[in-house]
Amino acid sequence: MFSIFKKKEPPLLLVSVNGKKICAMSQADVPCEKTPTVSISPGSFLEFSYSQGASHRHDLGGVSGWCHLSIRVHSNLACQADCVLTDSETFDPEAFAKGRALGIRFQPFFISGAKVKNEEMHGKGLFARGLHFSGTVTPGNIVLSCECDQCRRSFQIRSYHAGFSNAGYFYSHSGKYTITVSDRVAGCPAALSEPNPAELAALEAALPPAPDGTSFKYLNPFRCPHCAAPYIDFHANPKYRPGEYYGNYFVGSELLRYECV
Ligand SMILES: [Zn+2]
Repeated sequence: MFSIFKKKEPPLLLVSVNGKKICAMSQADVPCEKTPTVSISPGSFLEFSYSQGASHRHDLGGVSGWCHLSIRVHSNLACQADCVLTDSETFDPEAFAKGRALGIRFQPFFISGAKVKNEEMHGKGLFARGLHFSGTVTPGNIVLSCECDQCRRSFQIRSYHAGFSNAGYFYSHSGKYTITVSDRVAGCPAALSEPNPAELAALEAALPPAPDGTSFKYLNPFRCPHCAAPYIDFHANPKYRPGEYYGNYFVGSELLRYECV
């Protein structure tokens, strides 16, 4: 058939920055990686759109400069994307590797037609959501851009590796605060281990209230900062708690520390 008679294949995925298209992938391209570079200013947003109006929007915050994106669509229609922000239009991998540049990892998602539905990830941990990888340490200069399961707004978090920092963590009931506790303190939930229930209860009782008056508890969920819906829902999925060995806190917020006296 002459190519002019072929029906043009609709894009599988459209990627835009501030409403302007920067790349598109079709079914025939998959699996593929696209690496566009785009200039951004404070208040910019990145959007992934696919069939029937479904989209994932990520606010990029107050950063500006050159955004070097990597967008991968796999054969199972999972999309993973991240970017490195630099002050040069030419990408320099060394800038990120040496910690001079910030990276943003966007919450992966499945495009329409995939066997896995995005709803299956609701309330799950960061490993299940593909934001951290077991056996690979996420570098400290990576910010994670999450999307709330309920209100769909994005929010940026930082993670610290509880095992390497020899500290457990607790979230406040409000979800606004995270406190770390040395794993030398009895009852501390050290990475990949279940704390002794009696020691944990004593530690929870000893922890100070969060600045907003809510209490820190082992099974408090990590919440969306916009609507307070559980994002990592440890009440619904308590078995994930020992394995979620990254403690998280919001970009721009202070990580609290419990000083045992
Ligand atoms: Zn929300």
